[in-house]
Amino acid sequence: EHLGGHFPTGLKGLDAALCGGIPFGVLTELIGPAGIGKTQFCLKLSLLASLPTNYGGLDGRVIYIDVESKFSSRRLLEIGLRSFPEIFQMKEMAQEMAGRILVLRPTSLAEFTQSLEQIKVSLLQKQVKMLVIDSMAALVSGEHEQGARRQQTLSWHISFIKSLAEFSRIPVVVTNQVRSRNHEDASRYSFQVQSRDGAIGTTMQYDSHLVAALGIQWAHAVTTRLVLEAKSGERFIKVAKSPISPPLAFPFHITSSGISL
Ligand code: ATP
Ligand code: MG
Repeated sequence: EHLGGHFPTGLKGLDAALCGGIPFGVLTELIGPAGIGKTQFCLKLSLLASLPTNYGGLDGRVIYIDVESKFSSRRLLEIGLRSFPEIFQMKEMAQEMAGRILVLRPTSLAEFTQSLEQIKVSLLQKQVKMLVIDSMAALVSGEHEQGARRQQTLSWHISFIKSLAEFSRIPVVVTNQVRSRNHEDASRYSFQVQSRDGAIGTTMQYDSHLVAALGIQWAHAVTTRLVLEAKSGERFIKVAKSPISPPLAFPFHITSSGISL
């Protein structure tokens, strides 16, 4: 069973490093600059989660919080058709799989707060097998509230999302965009991965814009943090924080069949 286990991403090296994949019951954050593949990664994971278990899926529903309207059903079906033609060539099956992914588009933090109660009820019914928030920073960026009051509101959201992951024991995947400090060289970001003892227990110096948006409580609430980045024309996914993996990086590609090695 997947309880307390890990959900394979299909990126073999990454899955091996993470003892099987994305952990259940905790928050996993995907961060990186615009266009690097965070949403593509979420689409692939959502599709995988919807699949029958004999295809490596979780045979369940997915709740996808699509804050910036970047979810694309057309792209989802393309990935499905390329990766699992046996399923997605059958129109009814394709519709059934796509229909398992419930896309919510809150236009404000208040609207998101309201939907969280609804999400909790869905999770209690045990049919939802994954929660995706793409992206968390975008959700709070439009808020005008400042200072202590804002931190308080945000603090409540962070605790709530964390508790959703814990009680339902599903993977919760959250994206956040980080800006590149040097716009001529997108591979140099304003954050660093520092490893203590050269292995486990990595910490990250956050992009100041992300700290401004979400605060340090967010950084601590996340159990696994994966950084997507580009270097010399190649894409990499890096384990930046994990209770089990050293800070390893794995190359990946985005093709018509989605995120792959
Ligand atoms: P943002 O922070 O702006 O949301 P992101 O990290 O979510 O960015 P994605 O939207 O996941 O970025 O990735 C977009 C990239 O995915 C495109 O630039 C393109 O390189 C790649 N991509 C998207 N669709 C395809 C496709 N059908 N075939 C190949 N590559 C694709
Ligand atoms: Mg995106």
